[in-house]
Amino acid sequence: MAAAPCIDIDLSAVRHNLAVARRAAPGRKVFAVIKANAYGHGDRLILDALADADAIAVARLSEGINLRQHGYARPILVLGVLDGVQDLVLAAEHSLDVTLSHVDQLPHMLRAEVSRALSVWIKIDTGMHRLGIRPDELQFVLSQLEAGAWSGDIGLMTHFANADQRDGDETRRQLELFETVTSRQPFERSLCNSAGILAWPDAHADWVRPGIMLYGSSPFAETSARELDLKPVMTFRSELVSLNHLIKGDAVGYGGDWVCPQDMLVGVAAVGYGDGYPRHAPNGTPVLVNGLEVPLAGRVSMDLITLDLRSQPQARVGDPVVLWGKGLAADRVAAAAGTISYELFCGITGRVERRISNTD
Ligand SMILES: *Cc1c(COP(=O)(O)O)cnc(C)c1O
Repeated sequence: MAAAPCIDIDLSAVRHNLAVARRAAPGRKVFAVIKANAYGHGDRLILDALADADAIAVARLSEGINLRQHGYARPILVLGVLDGVQDLVLAAEHSLDVTLSHVDQLPHMLRAEVSRALSVWIKIDTGMHRLGIRPDELQFVLSQLEAGAWSGDIGLMTHFANADQRDGDETRRQLELFETVTSRQPFERSLCNSAGILAWPDAHADWVRPGIMLYGSSPFAETSARELDLKPVMTFRSELVSLNHLIKGDAVGYGGDWVCPQDMLVGVAAVGYGDGYPRHAPNGTPVLVNGLEVPLAGRVSMDLITLDLRSQPQARVGDPVVLWGKGLAADRVAAAAGTISYELFCGITGRVERRISNTD
């Protein structure tokens, strides 16, 4: 078969990372966040490794329905905004829990004729200013649900905007505001994403919501995944498909962004932005060839990248290339490309084959 990139998904790494999250927040319940196709890893694939999670959380109704139909039997929370009564009826049909994140959604909640009791997490905006009811609206929302004889469970949640800044004032303020408005309520509470779990133990509450850490990336700019004992789940692989002995002054690829500073070997690997490798990755972005780092040299094209192989004059067509994963943290590639690993993972395109691998 022609050389083509693939991603290996290490389910034992998922189990390991989930255990790291559990150890960081002992005794708390866990929503494993697997929105956006499990951050590009393949949500149905990942599900098998999440047996130890108490529930899963997705962003969209369609994601929740897909995973319920796949046979996931524990609670599934849809974090995103549902589109009116119709979506609530569907959520109930598929036993999905929903999020209320604006008072305007309340009339739909109260009007929807659902086939079974819906559980709702009320999202309170404590400072992110994206989704969530205002703190001073909580009493009203709760009284409306009570007046409407709401029969499902109720939970209270918020989301941090800056949890990756350890000891940041903003998170402290969000946490205190959440405490103030919710502490006298009898309901379960949830605040923490991965960064919150690792940096804000005071905020663990009843449920935590790890996402990126499950996939083995660090939520912090200044701390590596390895330092956090997180293992990469996705390894993005390809191979060398061509080798060129170029001479000093030769320009490589579109725009001639790389000009050979000396006579040198340039390798071509079968991967490009059409597979989800970031097009804006600059010269020098690390790539592994035969397990050793070499720099990207020249602009990323749709199906190919070009590599400075001066350190590997013995390289051959067919040699293994790793874009990120085992041996090269996605966080490092993301930093080089001016983005975050979340975006790299989500950007893997449909033509890239996903393969399960288990290291234990
Ligand atoms: C995506 C998301 C998470 C997970 O965040 P990570 O930074 O990936 O851990 C948690 N809670 C909510 C509401 C989210 O949208």
